[in-house]
Amino acid sequence: MNKLTITDLDLRGKRVFIRVDFNVPLKDGVVADDTRIRESLPTLRLAIQKGGRLVLASHLGRPKGGPDPKCSLLAVSKKLEELIGRPVRFSSDCVGPVPESKSKSLAEGGILLLENVRFHPEEEKNDEAFSKQLATLSDGLFVCDAFGSAHRAHASVVGITRFVQRSAAGLLMEKELAYLGEAVTNPARPFVAILGGAKVSDKIEVVENLMNIADAMLIGGGMAYTFLKAEGQPIGKSLVEDDKLELAKRLRAEAQQKKFALLLPVDHVVGAEFNPGTATQTLPVSATPDGWMGLDIGPKTIDTYRQKIASAKTIVWNGPMGVFEMPAFSKGTLEVAKAVAAATSAGATSIVGGGDSVAAVHQSGVADKISHISTGGGASLEFLGGRKLPGVEALTTK
Ligand code: AMP
Repeated sequence: MNKLTITDLDLRGKRVFIRVDFNVPLKDGVVADDTRIRESLPTLRLAIQKGGRLVLASHLGRPKGGPDPKCSLLAVSKKLEELIGRPVRFSSDCVGPVPESKSKSLAEGGILLLENVRFHPEEEKNDEAFSKQLATLSDGLFVCDAFGSAHRAHASVVGITRFVQRSAAGLLMEKELAYLGEAVTNPARPFVAILGGAKVSDKIEVVENLMNIADAMLIGGGMAYTFLKAEGQPIGKSLVEDDKLELAKRLRAEAQQKKFALLLPVDHVVGAEFNPGTATQTLPVSATPDGWMGLDIGPKTIDTYRQKIASAKTIVWNGPMGVFEMPAFSKGTLEVAKAVAAATSAGATSIVGGGDSVAAVHQSGVADKISHISTGGGASLEFLGGRKLPGVEALTTK
């Protein structure tokens, strides 16, 4: 990577502003899943070891432009204290005299966590004055470890970099970029991309970009039905985006012309209704009855996808193969998770992103077999779609 990383910075005795991704779920005022906090620990420990004075900032949830106790990071400060085994001070605002004096009184290795940056609407507007105020809490040093926010040009991710001397990637950010960067620039082949989830429209850029990079693409989930309908298959009342039919046709034609393996389901589990206890049938896609909806990939498709995955040396997976939240329609997704894990054990590099696919590898008990589980679903999709991430672009070039 041609950007500075935290290892390049001299932090001794300096206040360093670290943008982390502590956007964790809270339940009854406590952290319900601390994965994102744990993922930040290597960067925080390195900053402490380097003698920095740590000022941490993050967003949490979607407060509507003002303080909202349901989105407070106070619970996170307690969790962080427990995980890192050191005191964590908390500032009830992320700008102004309170964090200013608290940050100045930090000792080397001390930690201050700021309240949710999104309590100020200026954060999402990438406001200049607000960015400058954030920057006054550091001694010219900024570290971005919030990969999950790197696709957003917000003040604590992008704006602040204009008011510090050096902006560097944290270790988590560096790891995310190393895995994704290798996949798109120098993948071990065959490179198999697996895409699922509800909509084609969310993943068009990824399909288009990866068709130029990968060797095969396996499509599942709701997004498959727009492709299937475009081919003239019956889809009953499956999810479909009629305004994307032409696009789906074009992508299929392009794939055919390039001899690119763009695979669609050949069979599926259909449900009478969109609910967990509904009647189901497993049928070839061509036999989809009117009034039924496709909610998971079927056994033949699972077999074909499994074989493709087994032959891969690089695998990128984003999006479930069906309505994975309902046990009757979770098999395809769980089988894909197991296949990706098996291929990884046999030497492939696997990258899994997106909430449902990540949940599926955990639910299948294979999370520890995946090479890299991305912490940023949206950011990783933008990266795979060939876009530059503003939060990465803004870092200081080496
Ligand atoms: P996304 O956020 O685009 O990755 O989509 C994830 C959602 O897609 C999950 O909530 C799934 O339940 C849903 N999904 C997957 N397959 C289907 C399908 N065949 N029909 C309707 N929804 C689906």
